[in-house]
Amino acid sequence: MGREPITSKYIEVRESEIHGTGVFARIKVSKGKKVIEYVGEKITKKESERRSVALIEKNLGSQTEGAVYIFELNKRYDIDGNISGNPARFINHSCEPNCEPNVIKNRIWLISTRKIKEGEELSFNYGFDLDGYEDHECKCGAKKCVGYITSEDNWAKLKKLIAKKKNKKKKAEKGKKKSKKKAKE
Ligand SMILES: [Zn+2]
Repeated sequence: MGREPITSKYIEVRESEIHGTGVFARIKVSKGKKVIEYVGEKITKKESERRSVALIEKNLGSQTEGAVYIFELNKRYDIDGNISGNPARFINHSCEPNCEPNVIKNRIWLISTRKIKEGEELSFNYGFDLDGYEDHECKCGAKKCVGYITSEDNWAKLKKLIAKKKNKKKKAEKGKKKSKKKAKE
């Protein structure tokens, strides 16, 4: 990991408090900067699908479960960033991120969404959908952390899902005492 090539003047790679290895601002970064390019292998959507499934199967039950490095480039191609020349793959997810991915002229960049202090950990929202959200617990530590890694568009729905689940659990516990009560569905 110490041999990771540094492809941006703004970054350094070291151990993270959020999760595993992280990427940090080596110098201060102003808002709207191309902080680092997310590079990787250009693959078709079909190959992308195959790799995602293979990775999930391989990592089942291990710590790296859910670590998917594939980014959408356009309608036809994705970028698989799981290569050693891509330190941006170590950037952690956060519910309150300071960067966001942006495709500019067929290249993926992480752009700063606000001013970032020297030494601050870089993060972006991984933008996962809600399928299997329970496999992607979030420990970003942000005040407004929603508990799982998913795009902000899904937060309202996620909160409902969590509430529903809590309710079901409560009902199930009650049901053990009073089996007469029928849960309405
Ligand atoms: Zn979070």
